[in-house]
Amino acid sequence: MDLKKNYEEIKQKAKEALKETGRSLDDILILGVSKTVDTDTLNEAVKLGITTLGENRVQELLEKYDKVEGTSWHLIGHLQTNKVKYIIDKVELIHSVDSIKLLNEISRCAKKIGKVQRVLIEINVSGEESKFGVPIDDAYEFLEEAKTIENVKIEGFMTMAPLLETEENVHAIFKKLYNLYIDIKDKKYDNISMKYLSMGMSQDYHIALLEGANIIRVGRNLFKR
Ligand SMILES: *Cc1c(COP(=O)(O)O)cnc(C)c1O
Repeated sequence: MDLKKNYEEIKQKAKEALKETGRSLDDILILGVSKTVDTDTLNEAVKLGITTLGENRVQELLEKYDKVEGTSWHLIGHLQTNKVKYIIDKVELIHSVDSIKLLNEISRCAKKIGKVQRVLIEINVSGEESKFGVPIDDAYEFLEEAKTIENVKIEGFMTMAPLLETEENVHAIFKKLYNLYIDIKDKKYDNISMKYLSMGMSQDYHIALLEGANIIRVGRNLFKR
């Protein structure tokens, strides 16, 4: 695996997309998605400057947590309420909050250890195809309820585009969430800051960047052989 070459290729492609929107690599975070990747490789990635890793399963995160040095962890996959307690002291940002029940549990666990947990709300933009995420039409209602919950700080949105979509539709999905993100930012809700828009994976991060993402989550293309 030529990790350095893979990373350079991703940065180059990202740079080109960012240029179109008047931004640079300094304006975004490239999250290394560590699922199924061994910890030796992850340590190598950290040395190359990939210092934030995204894991999508709690169990895998717990197994890798002590074995990778110099990284901070984001949880990006679906989180079950009963697993929150295992990761609350370990994650910098949770991308995948999709229910008030989950947010309340994060609040409860965060309070116990005196932490304010930073989170993103996962939004289901496209409808049926993706199972998780707050339906985009319910986003305002969700935030109205969420903004009163203590010990959590909502810092933006995350979404996944369906796998088999035309490029045009992927653009439309990302654009729709960007517009919501800007609208909420302008409305200045208490306790909610729209700092991050986490969109785009190996197959579509260039599109996400064109549509305003500032966190991209790249696994396969980074760790490919
Ligand atoms: C696996 C995963 C990614 C990365 O996908 P790749 O296609 O490997 O780049 C991004 N986000 C989430 C939520 C994932 O589960």
